[in-house]
Amino acid sequence: MNILLARSAGFCFGVKRATRMAFEAAESHDGICSLGPIIHSPQLVKKLEEKGVVVVDRVNEIPEGAVIIRSHGVTSGELKEINDRHLEVVDATCPFVKSAQDHAALLSREGYAVVLVGEREHPEVQGILSYAESGDVFVVGAAAEAEAISRRKRLGLIAQTTQSFETFRQVAAICLDKCQELRIFNTICDATSVRQDEAQEIAHRSDLVLVIGGFNSANTSRLAQICADIQPRTQHIETAEQLRKEWFEGVETVGITAGASTPRWLIDEVILGVQKISN
Ligand code: SF4
Repeated sequence: MNILLARSAGFCFGVKRATRMAFEAAESHDGICSLGPIIHSPQLVKKLEEKGVVVVDRVNEIPEGAVIIRSHGVTSGELKEINDRHLEVVDATCPFVKSAQDHAALLSREGYAVVLVGEREHPEVQGILSYAESGDVFVVGAAAEAEAISRRKRLGLIAQTTQSFETFRQVAAICLDKCQELRIFNTICDATSVRQDEAQEIAHRSDLVLVIGGFNSANTSRLAQICADIQPRTQHIETAEQLRKEWFEGVETVGITAGASTPRWLIDEVILGVQKISN
């Protein structure tokens, strides 16, 4: 059985950085909190818990000491609360997310109504929005929603880092008709599209596709959906223990990819599991 592993499978730059910072902080502190799980990988969050990293949902649940800010970042209100409490901060906000926050702040400061292309409820979007401290803000989940924006003098357009460029381009086109001046900052990071393009390519060349990553990870679930649309024999798994022999009947090529929050050791265990079944 041939195994096709996507080059981009697993951690993106921001998740790799945040994970490294979290493990280093766990080593150097006697107990530390993270505001929300560091990444959407239950297996990795468990490893960090074993090293003393306690996940909390709100700043007021953090006892004295230090807090890790995950790669999605936090809202300006949460950051103020953290600073008011004089907590030590290990800031693992991805620099690309930080850049989107800074652009939201800049646009609102300079008098633009901010249009943010993204998922309203996502913590990253909530964080970015909070930095647009004055003027109107609009969150647009799909291009058609931009039609509802009322005409105004200035619009500033940014995006959640994981959005598709095509949606961003369509929203930009609609916004052009809605204002006299449109300022655009492309804050999309290409980690998502690179993974999705490779997943498509692998699905076309495989008889079975395994997509590894947390069931709570939106980007992994999306990869699984993209693969399943091309190759119905697609399985989304979190660990090697979930592999089933019967999936491999008549399979010559197995494609493997993984979400941006899937640790390398989980990918390696799945490859080993596939090799055992193959033998
Ligand atoms: S997907 Fe991009 S923006 Fe998000 S954490 Fe990874 S590198 Fe950073």
